Amino acid sequence: MGIEYVPTICPYCSCGCGIYLVVEDGRIIGQEPWKAHPINEGTNCPKGKNAYEYLYSEDRLRTPLVRKNGDLKEASWDEALDLVASKLKEATPDNFGFIASCRNSNEDLYVMQKFTRVVMGTNSVEYCGRLCHSPAAAALIPMMGSGAMQTNQESIVDADCIFLAGVNVKETFPMIARRVARARAKGARVIYTDPRKTNTARYLADIHLQLRSGTDAALINAMMKIILDEGLEDREFIASRTADFEALGEFLSTVDLKQAEEITGVPLEKIKEAAIIYAKAERGCILYDQGISQHYVGVDNVKVHANLALLCGHAGKPGSGINSMRGQINGEGGGDMGCLCVFYPGFKRVGEESAKFFEEAWKVENLPTKPGLTYIDMLYNVSNLYVVGADPMMVVPDTNNLRKALEKANFIVVQDIFPTEISKLAHVVLPAATWVEREATHTWIDRRVQKINKVIDPPGEAKPDWQIICELAAKMGYPGKFDFSFAQEIFDEMRSCVPQYKGITYERLDRAIAGIHWPCPAEDHPGTPTMFLEKFNTPDGLGHFMVVEYKPPAEVPDEEYPYFLTTGRSIFHYHTGHMTRRTPRLLDEVPRGFFEVNPDDATKEGIKEKDTVTLTTRRGSIEAEARVTDRVPPGLIFVPFHFPNSLANVLTNPTLDPAAKCAETKVCAVRMEVKR
Ligand code: SF4
Repeated sequence: MGIEYVPTICPYCSCGCGIYLVVEDGRIIGQEPWKAHPINEGTNCPKGKNAYEYLYSEDRLRTPLVRKNGDLKEASWDEALDLVASKLKEATPDNFGFIASCRNSNEDLYVMQKFTRVVMGTNSVEYCGRLCHSPAAAALIPMMGSGAMQTNQESIVDADCIFLAGVNVKETFPMIARRVARARAKGARVIYTDPRKTNTARYLADIHLQLRSGTDAALINAMMKIILDEGLEDREFIASRTADFEALGEFLSTVDLKQAEEITGVPLEKIKEAAIIYAKAERGCILYDQGISQHYVGVDNVKVHANLALLCGHAGKPGSGINSMRGQINGEGGGDMGCLCVFYPGFKRVGEESAKFFEEAWKVENLPTKPGLTYIDMLYNVSNLYVVGADPMMVVPDTNNLRKALEKANFIVVQDIFPTEISKLAHVVLPAATWVEREATHTWIDRRVQKINKVIDPPGEAKPDWQIICELAAKMGYPGKFDFSFAQEIFDEMRSCVPQYKGITYERLDRAIAGIHWPCPAEDHPGTPTMFLEKFNTPDGLGHFMVVEYKPPAEVPDEEYPYFLTTGRSIFHYHTGHMTRRTPRLLDEVPRGFFEVNPDDATKEGIKEKDTVTLTTRRGSIEAEARVTDRVPPGLIFVPFHFPNSLANVLTNPTLDPAAKCAETKVCAVRMEVKR
């Protein structure tokens, strides 16, 4: 066989760019951007240009491993799955939990939640969306009817004001950053909130509101007060498409602008300028990410931005709305497929009615009717844990404490493509196939469903995740419920019970170069690039304002821990870094953990560029290399979270948002000591 160019989709962020893999004799030997793909328009970002090398890493998991006398030893599939089946048969619904990942396909995720509910009898199934974008659903379902992105990526170019709220779009969503730049070239104004002076601030923002960490609600309330004072609210939109405005108006009349300036650290004139630009725009588009959601007030932060969009009538139009930017390849699909302890597939809320619906759909009895445990609660409160494609030891705050809890677990199964930090604690490790080693669908950031075809065989005995779970279910005695032979059979069952996906078929996806946006209620429906054109998805069809009062961060600097700490990503690495740290060209760019410190603070602490520094919070300490830079203001330290040897989440604060159960990983208090 000669060389083939096989089209596929990038495995990294949730933009969903097309790439061509160059395949020779069943092995990928290179790649090119998919020039005609409508998302990437001829190029890819550094991660997308280096998307396949990790597949051939020496330490790919190739056979099942079973822990014997303290060590993980190679085992047959039968031996490993028999052991897992026997252990899980002893588990109860209260002491079992399943953690899936945004890296899994829709088909994987659907099977995982079905296994948890049907076989294990519990709703304790979660995915990593809980740790970053759960505030979207908690805030926006009651306010607008859905937590998903409201516009499509292409329409961002048509906005005339783009508000980047806590999203360093140039590093985390590079293709969306290109669209923002194109909108700006056409005259759009770009407002950006971030405590750091990132490349987004330097090269994309017209107005950088460099607020103090965790003061977003104070800033947005001030912007809304200014808009009302100036009479710039969209009265027609408020009257025809919203409810509960009076309470917000009353509350905003009490907001003190001088106090907002003091709290946020942003000059009032700048707040005013941003408020007026956003309010006067025809199409204002809020794009937001973990900068506002990973707080113990994450739900409040999303609500306050939704209030701003409703106040100015910036919703229900292409290139507008309040749009959650889910960072990973299938961040949307995880929630859609029901990998959340409070939602069955299709965001059907857990309860009697949903249980009855799925009992009929799946022809089973006694599905659980009570919410399960959320991601972090599960890790601390169950003794039998099944983890697929996720590494809680890297993404959950207060990692030292978590390690102590997991070391006491009765039984941990890890299913992944590489050894991970949590697989070091596992009793059984199962080898899984990657994104191009099986056929499947994913749902990208703007509800865009695309299909990925199999390009190469998985290594050794690795198998698709859904197939492993189905084989386990068969061993546990559930004939007929998990007898899927192909991914398409799973997708067809899923779309028969998830109305948003009903009209999307494999055949349509094979023809749809740009994918299909849900909701797509029928096979002749074109899909829905923009939501809420006529009405919101709330029971009365209206957008609901909700009053939000500012609350300070759960932990603020003091004498012992005098600096704020925040966390985030690098353009060269992806999430836990397990794929990008095995990609030589990306690792060369950023080979190890580091932290950013302002030159004034560095001088004060006696820190020089590249010094190894110990960072300490109330949870623990890490060592990291110093980068002395004005990207961070005085008083703020930044640590990326991709590196196990400088693990940011050893430091972070586990305080949870009471509604969304998302932790405050974006802000805590820290001290630093240089190591000589
Ligand atoms: Fe891949 Fe995202 Fe980069 Fe596109 S922007 S190439 S999807 S990492």
